[in-house]
Amino acid sequence: MNNQELLQRSRAAVWHPCTQMKQHETLPLIPIARGQGAWLYDFDGNRYLDAVSSWWVNLFGHCNPRINGAIKDQLEQLEHVMLAGFTHQPAVELSEHLARLSGLGHAFYGSDGASATEIALKMSFHCWRNRGCPAKTRFVSLENGYHGETIGALSVTDVALFKDTYAPLLRSSVQVPTPDWRYAEAGESAHDFALRRALDLRRHLEQHHGETAALILEPLVQGAAGMGMYHPEYLRQARAICDEFSVHLIADEIAVGFGRSGTFFAFEQAGIQPDFLCLSKGITGGYLPLSAVLTSDPIYQAFYHDEVAQGFLHSHSYTGNALACRAALAVLDIFAEDKVIEANRAKTELFNRIAEPLRLHPKLRNFRNTGMIWAFEVTDSAPGFARNFFEAGLKRQVLLRPIGNTVYFMPPYVVDEEQFHQLVAATLEIIECPV
Ligand SMILES: *Cc1c(COP(=O)(O)O)cnc(C)c1O
Repeated sequence: MNNQELLQRSRAAVWHPCTQMKQHETLPLIPIARGQGAWLYDFDGNRYLDAVSSWWVNLFGHCNPRINGAIKDQLEQLEHVMLAGFTHQPAVELSEHLARLSGLGHAFYGSDGASATEIALKMSFHCWRNRGCPAKTRFVSLENGYHGETIGALSVTDVALFKDTYAPLLRSSVQVPTPDWRYAEAGESAHDFALRRALDLRRHLEQHHGETAALILEPLVQGAAGMGMYHPEYLRQARAICDEFSVHLIADEIAVGFGRSGTFFAFEQAGIQPDFLCLSKGITGGYLPLSAVLTSDPIYQAFYHDEVAQGFLHSHSYTGNALACRAALAVLDIFAEDKVIEANRAKTELFNRIAEPLRLHPKLRNFRNTGMIWAFEVTDSAPGFARNFFEAGLKRQVLLRPIGNTVYFMPPYVVDEEQFHQLVAATLEIIECPV
């Protein structure tokens, strides 16, 4: 097998995600032969630093020996059994562990992030219905929010590129203005801006709480919006406003959970608890598709009834897959054994010092960092910026996928000082001379 052969066969047989396939007439696919730590290797001896954690899923590097070992061990015992009427040790232990970490004691499993969003939306509506409030059928989300691309999830997503084409298929939902501080007035602090935007939410719910089931948001970082970051005060306010108006709060931590925001869950930074917590991506360390929706006791109790139809009659074939749950348990063991949250805090400080030339660079705006995410906008970017930057990165051994003119780093937690230096140096080079 060589690079050329594999990319030709892939173009013929594989329909790649989020891609206009015709672009691959001129933009080559990158065949990957193997991964090790933060590196991906092709068949021709080239390597790429996975600075976007393979679409934000990888935490502890590719081919991590501890996660590999856990999956191999599980493989010899049980690969999968349906979770309706049956149970198994990895699903039970994972649910218990996630409950200890989040304070939300009931885990419902799906396979992808979007299915977690669907589950949370359906559960919220059904919970109100079971409690005698069937008029609560609407959802509110944040401007520029992203919650996945199945039809229900896309309905609460606000990214025009993904949404506009399918608008006739979608249920309408309402977006309230985003607290993303890039939109703050000159001189207005992120905190004050969060308060101002919380007032917009309050005004909306004052009028519409009777028909609103839930507010769904990405805590602290709006990923697909181009790593828009906001002050935790907004979450505190949103929690209080939702309580005041009897509206559920759904925290979509599919991207920011599992330490990405600097705390294990992002909502911890606001000292609040959501009613629903959606998890996926990093949950298996980037190994296997798994998502979970965690909920509180009162929500669970609203479904617990003699009447079958009051239960949550939702399922996916691979709900609670044993291999995926076991990978997730290995991930949680690594967090505990290696004190990952603390270690990352030190790494974040170090990496911020290394990234200082980017923060000070005259061509860059809004340099920002939350936990293990860094982002900035490149001013006077030419058309085709994202694609050109991506290609220029590959030539310098780094895998970067800008969103519009936003360049971001979201590396696996195993990235080391030398690799981060290399990432910053390559990025500076591309910004100075983008070929
Ligand atoms: C990626 C993502 C999703 C969707 O997850 P998929 O596994 O791609 O379906 C939902 N919400 C957020 C915040 C995400 O980043």
